[in-house]
Amino acid sequence: RLEIRNLVARYEGRVVVDDVSLTVQAGQVTCLLGPSGCGKSTTLRMIAGVEMQETGQIYVDGKLICDTVFRVPPERREIGLMFQDFALFPHLSVADNVAFGLKGSKDEKRARVDELLAKVDLMRFADSFPHHLSGGEQQRVALARALAPRPRIMLMDEPFSGLDNRLRDGIRDETLAILKEEDAAVLLVTHEPEEAMRMADEIALMRRGRIVQQGAPYNVYTRPADKAAVAFFSDIN
Ligand code: ATP
Ligand code: MG
Repeated sequence: RLEIRNLVARYEGRVVVDDVSLTVQAGQVTCLLGPSGCGKSTTLRMIAGVEMQETGQIYVDGKLICDTVFRVPPERREIGLMFQDFALFPHLSVADNVAFGLKGSKDEKRARVDELLAKVDLMRFADSFPHHLSGGEQQRVALARALAPRPRIMLMDEPFSGLDNRLRDGIRDETLAILKEEDAAVLLVTHEPEEAMRMADEIALMRRGRIVQQGAPYNVYTRPADKAAVAFFSDIN
């Protein structure tokens, strides 16, 4: 379970994340929706620990990992990351990419890598290099790599936007099924209304650094908080 309380971020005197609080239960997906520049990625970066909040607290499974005086470093936060650009290591094989963050014996690592490559259906590419794979295949390697260390939290910043439309629906569904199996709490940023309706257990609408509405997808869709949200959801066909 991910809990963030009253997070504030400021750049050059300007508040860009303004008192954001959210809870995501294990096995659930919360979609963070909002216009460009409203503070979505900044929120994710603070949770990941690559950016420091000005005030506020972050908890993973009830344990404090960061406030204004105490700070667990990013690599010890049990958080998996997946961004728009999959950022695979070009000089490592698919299997080594997935094994990258793993600890333990060689056999243990190997077993976990095999398990994940089977899940994302890429066993046959274990020894290939990322540039030999299609966009969809690379996305699945990135997913396997992020999930390999069994993170409690998955942060995903537009992880499907680099994929062509034809592939996207199938990959979204597969990704969702795997995330549910792994039982992580997922915070997903997207610009696609369909994606939010398809994947989210909860939707949070963000405007200028603040969360203006939060609830089940159906409720947000049928009773959007503002005109921008009405326009956003009217794109769904
Ligand atoms: P998008 O949908 O375009 O990805 P976003 O909601 O993810 O937008 P953020 O990247 O969180 O937006 O940025 C929020 C605001 O903070 C923006 O106005 C951005 O210009 C500003 N900002 C982000 N990072 C920095 C930084 N390192 N220094 C100064 N300003 C920054
Ligand atoms: Mg962003």
